[in-house]
Amino acid sequence: MEEMLLETHELTKAYGKRNVVDGVNISVKRGAIYGLIGKNGAGKTTFMKMIAGMIRPTDGTYEYKGFKGGNSEAYGKIGALIEIPAIMPNLNARDNMKLKCIAYNHNDDHFITDTLKLVGLGDTGKKKASKFSLGMKQRLGIALALVGNPDILILDEPINGLDPQGIAEVREVLTRLNQERGITIIISSHILAELAKLATDYAIIDNGRIVEVSTREELERKSRNRMIFKCEDSARAAAVLKEAGYTGFEVGDHETIYVYENTDDAPKMNMKICQAGILVNSFDYEVADLEEYFLNTIRSAAASPVTAEAGKEAAV
Ligand code: ATP
Repeated sequence: MEEMLLETHELTKAYGKRNVVDGVNISVKRGAIYGLIGKNGAGKTTFMKMIAGMIRPTDGTYEYKGFKGGNSEAYGKIGALIEIPAIMPNLNARDNMKLKCIAYNHNDDHFITDTLKLVGLGDTGKKKASKFSLGMKQRLGIALALVGNPDILILDEPINGLDPQGIAEVREVLTRLNQERGITIIISSHILAELAKLATDYAIIDNGRIVEVSTREELERKSRNRMIFKCEDSARAAAVLKEAGYTGFEVGDHETIYVYENTDDAPKMNMKICQAGILVNSFDYEVADLEEYFLNTIRSAAASPVTAEAGKEAAV
């Protein structure tokens, strides 16, 4: 069975009268790369600060499982990069690492060499951190967060502002940390597409509330190119398609069918459905766009608070 590493229960933070994180229930599996997606101001940083033990919740709880000493033991096993990385600009990468290692009583030259190599900063020599690109600074921030050999990394928007190459480099580093060192990663972004193919699980947060949780597979499925049939009876139309040998489709509501496979056959499918006496109102091709999917999810949650509640329940 999958081991849950972190569970939050109605986790809430209020500033003044406003809940900027509002009753968040999520579960993070050990070994996951958990992506928290939300627009600016959605509450990502505040949520991360709470689970990193940096600020206290106003209400609700969170629990790190698998640590005998509970949350207090887990804090020693968390590496966090939240907001600006604590980098000394006048020092090179190695001296920045040494300084943090001294603070953590973790003096190990091999660890520093290995970690700098892992984040792609093995050859930066005497170059001061102030001369680093944004991507290099972020990777140094990640290396610094690794001091103390954490089990969990909490990274707030580590790819924000990076160019595509910088994003790819950070992605590669995080994949290696997850796969080679078994580190569980909780990472936020305001761009879903940036975390696509990196995260194993996703939660979409808006106005402090979780509006949707998905696994990578579910997200891939939801964001695939598809054909949408609108007809008078989707259940009967589905039976016709099945009878004709098609399997790569899904019934939506009573009038909608989503076709994921053999989409080139759409005219033929249309004919079969019509021949069975079922009126087809429209059929359209929809090209998947992760950002659109993300924005639509937020919009429909805002339009229907019930959906937001459902998202909350799904997250439990
Ligand atoms: P961003 O990417 O812009 O940081 P975010 O999703 O991380 O967005 P938060 O930084 O968690 O969002 O902020 C959520 C809301 O809480 C914002 O409206 C912010 O102004 C407010 N907020 C955050 N910290 C405080 C604070 N210390 N006092 C008052 N309000 C705060």
